[in-house]
Amino acid sequence: MPFTAEMDALRACLPQRVAVSRAHAANGQVASYIPDLAKTPREALGISILDPSGNSASAGDSGLPFTMQSVSKVFTLILALMDRGEHIVFSKVGMEPSGDNFNSMLKLELVEPGIPFNPLINAGAIVISSLIKGDGPQKKSARILHFFRELAHNDALDYNLEEYRSESSTAFRNRSLAYFLKDNGVLKDDVEEVLDVYFHHCAVEISCPDLARMALVLACGGNDPISGQSLIPRRFVQIAKTFMVTCGMYNASGEFAIGVGLPAKSGVSGGIMTMVPGRYGIGVVGPALNRKGNSVAGVHLLETLSREFDWSLF
Ligand code: GLN
Repeated sequence: MPFTAEMDALRACLPQRVAVSRAHAANGQVASYIPDLAKTPREALGISILDPSGNSASAGDSGLPFTMQSVSKVFTLILALMDRGEHIVFSKVGMEPSGDNFNSMLKLELVEPGIPFNPLINAGAIVISSLIKGDGPQKKSARILHFFRELAHNDALDYNLEEYRSESSTAFRNRSLAYFLKDNGVLKDDVEEVLDVYFHHCAVEISCPDLARMALVLACGGNDPISGQSLIPRRFVQIAKTFMVTCGMYNASGEFAIGVGLPAKSGVSGGIMTMVPGRYGIGVVGPALNRKGNSVAGVHLLETLSREFDWSLF
């Protein structure tokens, strides 16, 4: 289908597709290990789709603010690659799916040389936070926020400080991962300072249109087609998108590749960022999660749309 005709078709069908997928939220649970997240409405489901000409389609709770959580890891990886280059980054994190939960420590002890399997699991993203350039945690966080604002083309993006504090004061698991990495010699910096950078970027609050705009930059090889700005070197977009396919949906990345067939990254707040390369940036939110930590209704919606519009890359 030509571009604009497909966008018209999407605008027409999205409200009904969202209504059907929303019912699936009943099969999931809102994450509560970060206490503040438990306040999120379980039945919410929203989507925004944006094309390179700036045409968009949104439906459901697309305006619902939510924190980026693990979705932010894609962009901190990119910033670390821009700051340090591939050689340094991949001496500290691997390139393979872990096969374990996103917050697992298992393989850090079992598999030599004790570096995280990839940059999208918590251990890997904590190491990535340590690689962001900046004089101290505040400057590092400020650079990350500036980069996110540039990508979303939205200077109003900011932290949800309640969620930041809620995570930071209860993150016993992430603290143990980080101290373990310090003991392994992978983390050199002060552990609490590294974690502070990590918790801050997880707590950046966005909504579906922001996420769609950020995803569109990835869909267009690092260029923002709407502003004409070149924001990310093509090679780093290629690396990020590859990780999204192999590890972006945690332990369900294979299932998502079969069901939807697009690069994607999810987060515990229920966000999913995905894209149809060259065509669309897509942001989804649906806070009820399945056991693997992905939005139940969000995945259902993307499966439906991918099949209907033949989006799978495979
Ligand atoms: N901030 C969350 C954590 O570290 C991010 C995890 C996620 O979104 N899966 O637990």
